[in-house]
Amino acid sequence: TAETRDLAALIADVPDFPKVGVSFKDITPLLSSPEAFQACVDALVAASPTDIDVVCGMEARGFIFGAPVALAMGASFVPVRKSGKLPRDTVETTYDLEYGTQTLAIHSDAIKEGDRVLIVDDVLATGGTVAATADLVRRLGGSLVAVSVVMELAYLEPREVLGRHRIDDVTALV
Ligand code: 5GP
Repeated sequence: TAETRDLAALIADVPDFPKVGVSFKDITPLLSSPEAFQACVDALVAASPTDIDVVCGMEARGFIFGAPVALAMGASFVPVRKSGKLPRDTVETTYDLEYGTQTLAIHSDAIKEGDRVLIVDDVLATGGTVAATADLVRRLGGSLVAVSVVMELAYLEPREVLGRHRIDDVTALV
């Protein structure tokens, strides 16, 4: 759609960041335009199921998109953070990155048994971050209803990883 093309034009390709051979998708031009940012949040809400209790956003850019989506839906916003940042009792999960591992954490009381949960992030790359977040949601008894992201890097085939984790309802705007 025209709207999707507008969004795509505001996501910059930065070659060789953070290291040689990687092409980084920079969403900051999109954030600079209040009209585009609003349209993006509206599109994420429109693409997502209704009756969501909790929106989970992952550090750091998942916070930027997840928080306004949660407000627009009248849902709770729950931050998923790197280990050591959340002040109270947490549940954590460790997963593999290209080099090394990463541990993500969520407050243990952030999701109640049966809560309908939507995961929101900026970029879906290998799918590891979303899969790890889904693991945290499910360990707290949440029902993972859907995943909505601004951009999917389809060539990395994230949906294969997500499928293995029984994450089927995934929407990418771009
Ligand atoms: P994955 O776990 O799917 O490989 O990586 C997704 C996570 O890394 C997301 O939280 C996303 O913010 C970040 N990420 C990976 N690649 C990019 C990129 O090219 N651009 C941006 N903005 N974020 C990325």
